[in-house]
Amino acid sequence: MTDCLFCKIVAGEIPAKVVDDAGRTLAFADIEPQAPTHLLVITKEHHPSAAEAAAADPALVGEIVATAHRVAQAAGVAESGYRLVFNTGPDANQTVPHVHCHVLGGRTMTWPPG
Ligand code: 5GP
Ligand code: ZN
Repeated sequence: MTDCLFCKIVAGEIPAKVVDDAGRTLAFADIEPQAPTHLLVITKEHHPSAAEAAAADPALVGEIVATAHRVAQAAGVAESGYRLVFNTGPDANQTVPHVHCHVLGGRTMTWPPG
């Protein structure tokens, strides 16, 4: 999609600190980190949300989670633990309508999330 922020990152039109580029996913640092480790894993293909990606291609969502674990390992937070978040829709405050998985780590997470 030409007007999508994360599609522009995939296309290299907007710079990002890419940490993983393999297969059908791309991972990069969140511009406004909410934890010492805060990465985003997206699909290279445009899907508006995790729900729509799952409906179109369930295996792709598995690839997102596998990439999330790989980048958590590379960031050194896999053993201490990390949180994966797919904000989906307005009540979850999804702000970018391109499927993305937040990988948060490096501190103890609180529950329930706000
Ligand atoms: P959402 O609120 O949709 O779950 O998450 C979108 C995330 O994208 C936010 O955490 C926000 O900080 C991040 N973000 C927004 N614009 C950019 C950008 O231009 N570059 C990067 N790397 N992250 C961005
Ligand atoms: Zn997109």
